[in-house]
Amino acid sequence: MQASTAITCSCGSSRFAAKGVPLVRAICHCTICQRFNQSDFADVTVFYRKDVEVKDDKNVTYTAHKKPAIVMRGQCSVCTLPAIEQVSMPLMPKLTIVPTRNLTDHSALPDAGLHIFYDKRVRDMYDDVPNYSGYMQSQIAFGAALIRGMVHRRG
Ligand SMILES: [Zn+2]
Ligand SMILES: [Zn+2]
Repeated sequence: MQASTAITCSCGSSRFAAKGVPLVRAICHCTICQRFNQSDFADVTVFYRKDVEVKDDKNVTYTAHKKPAIVMRGQCSVCTLPAIEQVSMPLMPKLTIVPTRNLTDHSALPDAGLHIFYDKRVRDMYDDVPNYSGYMQSQIAFGAALIRGMVHRRG
C-alpha cells in the first residue's frame, strides 16, 4: 500500500486515509455484516487505528450492533453505506476495519485470507480461501490471522 491511500464511502462524503499496510483482509458472512453492508457478505480490510486518519466523518453515525460495544460501525448518513468500523478489544491495539471497496487503491491490497461465519452465508463461495463456521471457530481464525498480520508487520 502506498504512503497514503484514500478511503471513501460510496458517495464520497465520508473520507479517511490509510497510512500503513493492512493487517488482514477477511470476508465476513455474519448476519450483522450482511445487514450493515446491505450485501451478502462483508469484504473488509483491517488496519491499526493509528494508521487510519479521519479526514471527514461528520456524516458518519457510529453504532454498536452488539453488546459489549467492541465494534462501533460507522455508517454514512448520506449514502447509508458503511464508511468505517472502529474496534476496541480489551488488551489489544485499537483497530480500524475498512470496507475493502472503500479503499481507492487496490494495487497493494492482500487477497482475502479467510471467510468467517461461513455457516451464515447467503451463497457459496467458489474460491480457495479457507472458511470457518460458527462463532468460536470464526473468532479464533480471525484472531489468529490478525496476529499473523501484526507479527508480519513487525518483522
Ligand atoms: Zn461480520
Ligand atoms: Zn456516503
